[in-house]
Amino acid sequence: MSEPVLQVKNLKVYYYVEAGAVKAVDDVSFDLDFGVKMGLVGESGSGKSTMALALMRMIKPPGKIVGGQMILGSTDLVKLNEEQMRQLRLSRIAMIPQGAMNSLNPVMRIDKQLIDGMLDHNVIMSKEERARRVNELLEMVDLPPKVAKMYPHELSGGMQQRVTVAQSISMEPDLIIADEPTSALDVVIQRQVMETINRLQQRLGLSVILIGHDMGLMAQTVDRLAVMYAGRMMEIGETRAMFHRPLHPYTELLIKSLPVLENKGVFSGIPGITPSLLNPPAGCVFHTRCPKAWDLCENTTPQFVEAESGRWVACHLITA
Ligand code: ATP
Ligand code: SF4
Repeated sequence: MSEPVLQVKNLKVYYYVEAGAVKAVDDVSFDLDFGVKMGLVGESGSGKSTMALALMRMIKPPGKIVGGQMILGSTDLVKLNEEQMRQLRLSRIAMIPQGAMNSLNPVMRIDKQLIDGMLDHNVIMSKEERARRVNELLEMVDLPPKVAKMYPHELSGGMQQRVTVAQSISMEPDLIIADEPTSALDVVIQRQVMETINRLQQRLGLSVILIGHDMGLMAQTVDRLAVMYAGRMMEIGETRAMFHRPLHPYTELLIKSLPVLENKGVFSGIPGITPSLLNPPAGCVFHTRCPKAWDLCENTTPQFVEAESGRWVACHLITA
C-alpha cells in the first residue's frame, strides 16, 4: 500500500484585514501519496495559492496559519521555526513559481542561479562538480549546456520557466508545488513545459501538486484531482473517476464548463459569483450557487467524508 508524503489536517489560513478575517483556507484536509501528481483546481479566489504558500510556509502578514497540521513525511511543517523550514525548502519541498520572470535574478547567470540554492544548503561541491550538476540539471529540463552562461533576458519565457523547474529539482525534493507554472506562456510552449515536468515527475518519482484553472490540462496530466471552493475542499479523487462521475455538484459544473477553461479565472459555465471569504455563507459554502441545494444546505456544513475508497466529498447529497 502506498503511503502519504503529505498529510494536511484541518488547515486554516486567514488574512486579517481591517474588515475582519478572510478565511482563504478553512479547515482543509487531504493526503498525498508518494509519486502521485495531484491537481488543485477551483475558481479564482478559492484559496489555491494560499494553500501552496502555506505548504511552503511563505504566508506573509496579514496572512497567518491559524490552525491545523501539514505533515511532510513525519514532520509537521506548521511547528517548524523559520530556520528549520529554510532547510526543508528545496531539499524536501520546492515550488515552481507562477512567473519565471519575477523569480529569476536578472543580473545573475543561470549556472549560478541553479547552484545557489544548493550552496545555501551547505552542499559541498568542487568547481567541476558544480559544472557537472548544472549541465545535468539543464539536460533534465531539455535546455542546451550553453544556457549555463546566459542571463535570464537572453532566454525565452518557456526557457526561463524550464530554469525554474531545474531549480526546483536541484536538491531532489519529495514534493514539488507548481502554481500555474505555465499560465504566462502560450499554449504550445505550455504543453511542452508540462511534458517536461511530467517526465521529471516519473523519472525522479516526485510527488507534485499542480495548481491550475485548466481542467482540460488537468484531465491529461494529474492522477488525482482536488477541487476547492471558497476556501474549502469540495471533492478529491482519482482524476478519471472524477471526470467520469463527479460526486460534488461543483465538480460537475466545473467539468461541464470545460470548453472555456483556457481563460484564466473565467468559469463562465457556472452562474453566480463566488462568495466573500470575509463572511462566507452559512451551511454549505456552495449553497448560494448550487442547483441541487435544499434547506439543510443553508444551515448545516457538510462533513468532508470518504464516500468511496480514495474519494472524499463534502456534500449533503452523499451524507444526508
Ligand atoms: P487565483 O486562481 O486567482 O490565483 P486562488 O484560488 O489562488 O486564486 P488565493 O489567491 O489563495 O486564491 O486567495 C484566496 C482568498 O484570499 C481571496 O479571497 C483573496 O482575496 C484572499 N487573499 C489572498 N491574499 C491576500 C492578502 N495578502 N491579503 C488579504 N486577502 C488575501
Ligand atoms: Fe449543493 Fe447542498 Fe451539496 Fe452543498 S451540500 S454542494 S448546497 S447539495
